[in-house]
Amino acid sequence: MRAEVLSIGNEVLSGRTLDTNFQFLARLLEEAGARVVGHQAVPDEEGAIAEALRLAFARADLVLTTGGLGPTPDDLTVEAVSAALDLATMFDAPTLAAVEARWARLMRGPMPDRNRRQALVPAGATVWPNPVGSAPGVLIAHGGKHVALFPGVPEEMRALAVQFLAPWVRAASGRTVEYALVRTVGIAESVLEERLAGLSAALGGAWVAYLPGQGGVDVRVTLPEDVAPEERARLAARARDYVCERAGDHVFATEDRTLEEVVGALLTAQSAHVAVAESCTGGLLGGRITATPGSSVYFEGGVECYSNASKVALCGVRPETLEAHGAVSEETARELAEGIRARFGVGYGVGVTGIAGPDGGTPEKPVGTVHVAATGPQGTYHRAMRLFGNRAQVRERSVTAALELLRRLLKGLPPTTPGAMFTPPAAPPAPRP
Ligand code: ATP
Ligand code: MG
Repeated sequence: MRAEVLSIGNEVLSGRTLDTNFQFLARLLEEAGARVVGHQAVPDEEGAIAEALRLAFARADLVLTTGGLGPTPDDLTVEAVSAALDLATMFDAPTLAAVEARWARLMRGPMPDRNRRQALVPAGATVWPNPVGSAPGVLIAHGGKHVALFPGVPEEMRALAVQFLAPWVRAASGRTVEYALVRTVGIAESVLEERLAGLSAALGGAWVAYLPGQGGVDVRVTLPEDVAPEERARLAARARDYVCERAGDHVFATEDRTLEEVVGALLTAQSAHVAVAESCTGGLLGGRITATPGSSVYFEGGVECYSNASKVALCGVRPETLEAHGAVSEETARELAEGIRARFGVGYGVGVTGIAGPDGGTPEKPVGTVHVAATGPQGTYHRAMRLFGNRAQVRERSVTAALELLRRLLKGLPPTTPGAMFTPPAAPPAPRP
């Protein structure tokens, strides 16, 4: 099954809205067994929507649209698609009742007439009720092909796509795509690729994708389509083993879990708590840890110790340390981790200090110089790094490095490993006088 996505909305074309709906749908479609062959961003104009639909139908069996199902006059998708396919529109009675009930529950006063528009659907369409909003998803059959319309609001689109679209595509495509996912951290994409050079051939021509992201590099192996169903699970396991063997302790997960979830699980397994002292990341580390539901079980709290005074007063860094080595140094990172652990009275402490840029670099400590430390009953780990990228990237990578160091400490792995990214080469021995 070939699929195409139309992202409808002037805000997508103007660059004000990042088209995350496409990203989500493309991934969902691929995993459900469809092949995405096209993607268009389309303005809120009837003629443009009709033209995009015509183009998409020329190369795809299933066309998905997001956006333009709202109550306002710029929401034209239902009318435009219905007109293009020569279908009448009608009010769907159950949807209308749901839209009115929702209004009564959440709003005051009578519902404006125009909100009824959200119950307008093409005649003969299958209606998928919206579990988190008003406008439903609809599926239209047309000349042996299909069009599905979804709201633009990402939460609504996702809920509908997961509940209705994915099972429908799976059933219609009649094919399951088996894949293996291995998530790594601290190893460069190119180094990883070199180590896994033989993987595709070893699996009879599997498709291997390297997906770098905020937390590291994901390796995603999609098995060839002609593998017999009873062979698939075994081959997927072989793919995972192959990657794990060669990527070693850079692997932090063999399923769809984040680094912070993995660290959280390790802390939970030890019934331990962690506290963080963040200088250059200014709360991002605590933010990422607490983005995981249930993190209150193991996250105690943190301090954004941006100034030297706050490092001393709140995190237990000694003034002499700052004086002798500076705020961005191994010694300060260690004292931040150890100090915050003691102040919060927890098993583990993490410290981050660095120069995120664009200003503040010096020849000895250029922008991107970051020290992270993690401490626990086992002792203290420290890592010095030269991170590349702009301010936001340096900060994000610092968070990842801090989580990675804590993971290593919790698992009893060495603080770093051959092939590790970002760690600067050991300093050359000082010349003798
Ligand atoms: P509404 O009932 O809110 O009008 P709608 O179905 O008409 O919903 P839009 O008006 O097109 O959808 O968009 C609603 C919101 O969803 C906007 O805030 C927009 O930024 C966001 N959105 C729309 N399209 C996309 C997209 N392709 N990717 C990510 N977000 C999107
Ligand atoms: Mg709208």
